[in-house]
Amino acid sequence: MMCPLAILLFLVIIDSEKIMSTSSKESEEVNNEVLEADLEGEQGSLEDVEEEQGNNGSEEVEESTGAEEEGKVVYLTFDDGPTPATGKLLTLLNDYEMKGTFFTLAPNVNQYPDTTKRIVDEGHAIGLHGETHQLENFYGTAQSPVNEMVENQQAVATATGVKTHLIRTPYGSHPHLTHEQYKILQEHGFKLWDWQVDSNDWKLRDQRLVSTTIEQLEKRAHESSHVLLFHDSEITVTHIEELLVYLRDNGYETRILTEEMAPFHFVHY
Ligand SMILES: [Zn+2]
Repeated sequence: MMCPLAILLFLVIIDSEKIMSTSSKESEEVNNEVLEADLEGEQGSLEDVEEEQGNNGSEEVEESTGAEEEGKVVYLTFDDGPTPATGKLLTLLNDYEMKGTFFTLAPNVNQYPDTTKRIVDEGHAIGLHGETHQLENFYGTAQSPVNEMVENQQAVATATGVKTHLIRTPYGSHPHLTHEQYKILQEHGFKLWDWQVDSNDWKLRDQRLVSTTIEQLEKRAHESSHVLLFHDSEITVTHIEELLVYLRDNGYETRILTEEMAPFHFVHY
């Protein structure tokens, strides 16, 4: 038999656990709403996602070098190209001996096949971002994401001779990409990449795209590597040199995403 005091204590503990779990559920719901609102413009706040996911959404495979131990590995990624700005971006990256990963759109690849080839020839990674870049089309059916990626894959192969499986879906995977769509992409061997640091370049359109990136990088100093989101655009190319200088002066090493790495995405599918 438990004494009355022990029973009372037991009830108090049970009750406080109930309260804790309720309040954490509520805060998760709030974060979800924030996340959905944020992702509308392909900008998604990763902090919200990390809180929601407990930062366990996906693992990254890392080769072990000193740079990773110090959290100094950066993956620069550029979406929506190639564009008339890509040539200047490639020259800048070359000047600083840095590498990036380009998530291209099929129509742009077809329009700028020489630039697409230059991306590959200069040692950058090439990836796929689809064809239409429209929510209702890209995510319209179970098959539509894979159809767009295959179209994009063929365009890149024609331009460069490279058959890539690296993909990023428009506006980021969460909350648009369904489990079924993800599984079909996976069956085709595609490797889905979201991002961890968002420059918000499409929205900020000035030097703040650099300062927000640096701010987020400094907050993530405890992480071993960082996937950075940019867009292959005139605005980004105008301002990104300041970031390249920061990365160089602070001992960061840029690397390309590869198909051998376990991709990072916002949620665990
Ligand atoms: Zn995009």
